[in-house]
Amino acid sequence: MVKHHLPDEFLMAYSAGSLPEAFDLVVASHVSLSDDSRARLEAYDAVGGALLDATDAVEVGDDSLAATLALIDASRGPIVRRKKAEPAGVFPRPLRDYVGGDADTVRWRNLGRGVRQAILKTSGTATARLLYIPTGMAMPDHGHGGTEMTLVLQGAFQDDDERFGRGDIEVANEEVQHTPVATGPEDCICLVAADSRLRFASILPRLAQPFLRI
Ligand code: ZN
Repeated sequence: MVKHHLPDEFLMAYSAGSLPEAFDLVVASHVSLSDDSRARLEAYDAVGGALLDATDAVEVGDDSLAATLALIDASRGPIVRRKKAEPAGVFPRPLRDYVGGDADTVRWRNLGRGVRQAILKTSGTATARLLYIPTGMAMPDHGHGGTEMTLVLQGAFQDDDERFGRGDIEVANEEVQHTPVATGPEDCICLVAADSRLRFASILPRLAQPFLRI
């Protein structure tokens, strides 16, 4: 049961198609594991489509944000997309398609003490990587020069008082200092996207602009 879902602003930017590819991959993977995030994404998709349809005919005024939010509320109820069957195994469908297989096909690189990493090829400045952390081990030391998104695919990690299990997503930024520790019965496998150059707090309004038309 997914408990930590993706904040709305990221779903909005994803729906608008304005996220770097590395983050796209993490969001798509999370959405296929989280009913809550998928329902909210579908609402944004619907509103975005409606806005595109209406753009030619309607002059969008200063109240477009309020109108957009009203549309989202109105469309939240009836939109239910059938959940596509997820494959058995560790990787959700979008990641499996991207990698061309499940976790056992990944060419891991050993970082020592059982920690393994695999960098995924993505376009743009953001990076995506898979991390394999033996249970009981802390994640490798790292800082955040920008935004980091971590999705749990197997096992779990503990970050302060919060536990993140399969499907849970954690977003960290340059203000966050943390040392997540793998705590599951199984070793932890995570998908991590990071971009030291992206500071989402300041650029999110711009990312969501084509969608919100503000
Ligand atoms: Zn971090």
